[in-house]
Amino acid sequence: MDFDTYAFSKQPGFVETEMRKAFKQAVPLRTVVVYCYDPRAVNIPHAVAKAMRGEVYPGQIIHDDGGRKIASTTTIFPVVVAGGRAVDALRSITVAQHLFGIRNIVVVHHTYCGATSFTPEGLIAAFNTEQGVDISALYDRSNIAIADYESSLKRDTRLFREWKGTPKNVDIYGYLFNIDTEALTLIVEDRAAFSR
Ligand SMILES: [Zn+2]
Repeated sequence: MDFDTYAFSKQPGFVETEMRKAFKQAVPLRTVVVYCYDPRAVNIPHAVAKAMRGEVYPGQIIHDDGGRKIASTTTIFPVVVAGGRAVDALRSITVAQHLFGIRNIVVVHHTYCGATSFTPEGLIAAFNTEQGVDISALYDRSNIAIADYESSLKRDTRLFREWKGTPKNVDIYGYLFNIDTEALTLIVEDRAAFSR
């Protein structure tokens, strides 16, 4: 079995720039939604689609005549990480921009998040005890847990804005999601400094 036959770059006549154009047409992606991997938070992209005009999620998968999945109508790409913290989503933002072009980044933290149940110090100490490994220099302390939601959302939206790998013309939003009512509250709104 030659698994290379599944790689776009191994197709006969592959041209990177043409492939990129095809990707942009295949999915009308414009909004990356970063949220927590807590299973109770699974409806966050649906809630964002309702809250933001013109967004579609999950949309429809489009098949070609041969039954292959070739596109989608969704406008939202979920990036699901612990606590919905921005640090884990940075590379995905850059790749999404390259392949599809993005207009919005939405960071969503949620009530009763596991990330509010521990401190960076507690996690580092426990890892040391249980795994015998010192990870105290591995992560920026302020990206590990959530001490309060306003600070975490402000920090994460700012991190996206200041990151070199974020496109300059995106609008960035920070929401708190109520895990029980599934209501979204806008905490940070950071519009792009110049018009598109
Ligand atoms: Zn969570």
